[in-house]
Amino acid sequence: MNNEKIIGIPKAISYYNYFPFWYGFLTKLGIEIVLSDSTTKKTISDGASLVVTETCLPIKVYVGHVINLIEKGVKNIFVPSIQSIAPKIYNCSKIRGLPDLIRNVVKGEFNIIEATLDKSEKNNDLIDFLTEIANQFGIYNINQIKEAQASGFVVQNNFNVMVQNGLDFDSALKNAKAGCVIIPPKQEEKPISIALIGHGYNIYDKRSSMDIFKKLEKMNVRVYGAYQLTDEQLDGGMNLLNSTLYWANQHEMSGCAGHYLRDDKIDGIITLTAFGCGPDSLMLEDIKRKSKIFNKPILNLTIDEHTGEAGFVTRLEAFCDMLIRNKRAVILKEKKNSNLLNV
Ligand code: SF4
Repeated sequence: MNNEKIIGIPKAISYYNYFPFWYGFLTKLGIEIVLSDSTTKKTISDGASLVVTETCLPIKVYVGHVINLIEKGVKNIFVPSIQSIAPKIYNCSKIRGLPDLIRNVVKGEFNIIEATLDKSEKNNDLIDFLTEIANQFGIYNINQIKEAQASGFVVQNNFNVMVQNGLDFDSALKNAKAGCVIIPPKQEEKPISIALIGHGYNIYDKRSSMDIFKKLEKMNVRVYGAYQLTDEQLDGGMNLLNSTLYWANQHEMSGCAGHYLRDDKIDGIITLTAFGCGPDSLMLEDIKRKSKIFNKPILNLTIDEHTGEAGFVTRLEAFCDMLIRNKRAVILKEKKNSNLLNV
């Protein structure tokens, strides 16, 4: 049992999906959260130095964040074992094995705060998982744990509402933590719009994604993504790709791509995937096949710790230039046709 009610949370992997919930849950229990610092070159090289080369970038980043927390002097580090989030829906083996990986490769004086969520093999409920966490801090009162769970859902739902309405990730998180809900004004139209397809931990980690949102904003591109969609819209996208939900983070790729492929306001699709990711490479094949049918240009950017910024920007610029040229050509053709009709 930990007398010290402080927990370190790595800003990686599930942070980008569930941190609002963890914030609401843990703070309601009186547990102080220490976050790791944002990803840097050092975070990546620290993580990469402890795992085999073939490991995907997000896992190297995760290990680097755990090291960062240890360097900050945090004793209890949250590394949940999230096996399956719903019946027959699983995380990839690397995410499932995170507690074992951290235990075996990271040396130092720290405890892993570990609990298992497995809705498939063990069929344990979320409340069992949360109780396992609370117990490690000497909290056993089930009513207190249930209240904390409710608090977690409030923060998470507020965050979801804001990102679905177009607020950026950081602002939505800041407001959700403060108990506020801000609905931003409708964004102005841009010359082109793209759908950015990728896992939250890839696209919202500014270092891993080379700050792709800012780069696209500078190119005057409007960006849409999975976080702006409801579960129903993501399910619809999965149907379009004839995909059956198997991976816990499949909505972010297949569901999101399927939704935007048939959306006329989207001029092109950019996918951002980690080099060596098995699940993503399978999903990407389906997305590429369907993008031909829907006549949507697609660019796949692959990231690892060696990805160079110059080549990344060149490919982004070339793709966006091509989309603008395509759009102009379509507008000119439409004008010509309407002039012919008016003759
Ligand atoms: S889904 Fe792919 S990128 Fe994500 S942790 Fe698993 S292997 Fe890595």
